[in-house]
Amino acid sequence: MNQSAELFDQNLHYEEKISVFADEVLKILKELSHDNRKQIDSKLIADKMFWSDPVKKLLSGTTSITPQSDITPQYLRELSTKILDRFSELVPSSMIDNLDDLKGKLDDKVLAGKSTDWLDSPIQIIKKYIDSISVRNNEMESFIVQTMQYLGETERQLSKEVYTQQKKYSSDRQADEFIYSDISSIKKDFDTEGSIDSIRNAVLSKIGNINKCIKKRRDQDIVRLKQTEDSLKYMNVQIEAIRAEAEEMRRKAREMQYESFRDNLTGLFNRKAYDQRITETLANLDRYNVQASLLICDIDFFKNINDTFGHKVGDLALVKIASLLKKRLRTNDYVARYGGEEFVAILPHTDLTGAEKAGEGIREYIDEAIFSYKGKDIPLTVSVGISTFREGDDSTRVFERADTALYFAKRSGRNMVMTENDVPGDMTALNETG
Ligand code: GH3
Ligand code: MG
Ligand code: MG
Repeated sequence: MNQSAELFDQNLHYEEKISVFADEVLKILKELSHDNRKQIDSKLIADKMFWSDPVKKLLSGTTSITPQSDITPQYLRELSTKILDRFSELVPSSMIDNLDDLKGKLDDKVLAGKSTDWLDSPIQIIKKYIDSISVRNNEMESFIVQTMQYLGETERQLSKEVYTQQKKYSSDRQADEFIYSDISSIKKDFDTEGSIDSIRNAVLSKIGNINKCIKKRRDQDIVRLKQTEDSLKYMNVQIEAIRAEAEEMRRKAREMQYESFRDNLTGLFNRKAYDQRITETLANLDRYNVQASLLICDIDFFKNINDTFGHKVGDLALVKIASLLKKRLRTNDYVARYGGEEFVAILPHTDLTGAEKAGEGIREYIDEAIFSYKGKDIPLTVSVGISTFREGDDSTRVFERADTALYFAKRSGRNMVMTENDVPGDMTALNETG
């Protein structure tokens, strides 16, 4: 970090800013005059001035400005000394003694506790210095001319800045107008014939006003920024609450949908879910020619279980069958409780032969499983009817073919698997007409 950056990182006092300002003007003038004074034009100096880091920071104001009332004689002495120091770089070495002399006088004045108008000090000393050498030297004239040109350029730059700010914040207009009028009047001060002293008095005073305006505007910006931040934070909280609420609603909806498609007793899909799934399966069959089969599974003599052991045991038997079906069938098979003691399974990518094997597997598995109540084994078997999906099928037709096969399995003695191909022609005709 260079020296000037460090300077600005501290809480600068108003007169220190003025000092930086003066310092920068003098520095640039000196640089330019060393090159070729005739080429010093307003654009050049204004560019240098406006884009010099200390002045940029001064104008954008990253630090607070101490009100004028805080200015003490001590500060003034330092400011004056600083400016005199800078001037000493501009004047011929033979005149350095005069400057030192003036510095001494200033010290005396401060030490004597004499009241020192802050505007009075640096300007008066420079004036006294100029008076003392009785020369309106080139550097001083050049300084004034260049400062005036700089201010003209600054006015343009500020106008640009002000225009942008105006667009953003219409409420800043009043402050901007102050700045405009101050800069214009600074120019007028230079235009009118007057003593260097009065010109610089006016310039410094107006720069002070400009700084105040800039600070005021910045303070308003900070308030706005804070308000924006607050409302953004508030909005974020609101959005987060809405998001959480939406997520909860989605979760509940998923839960409700899940529940609405489930059978309470067995946890399998229910009739509603099955109806939807079979419609989808038929659509896929039409579109992608996906083979699938349907399997209906009905518990044999279930009424007897209810009658002998009670409804509760009947329920347990239903749960048992459901879990055996789930275990024995493939993960991709869609098992549902169709109603009562009747279950259905949609077997995707399975033809009639495959479905018959699956049906036989189930029948055997259930037959061999042990279902007992109070130490007593209860025989539990199922009959299975199977059909396979055909082109142009609808859900009723494919179901009816499997149901006819099931009926045939019951009639054939139960604990059996029958496919639609096993059903005798007369029974099919009977079923189709009835
Ligand atoms: P079949 O071998 O011909 O299928 O004889 P079945 O007794 O199993 O058939 P039927 O249709 O005569 O009786 C079905 C019984 O299933 C009648 C009904 O009380 C019982 N049932 C239906 N739903 C439930 C249920 O949710 N819980 C219980 N415990 N019993 C049920
Ligand atoms: Mg039954
Ligand atoms: Mg039944």
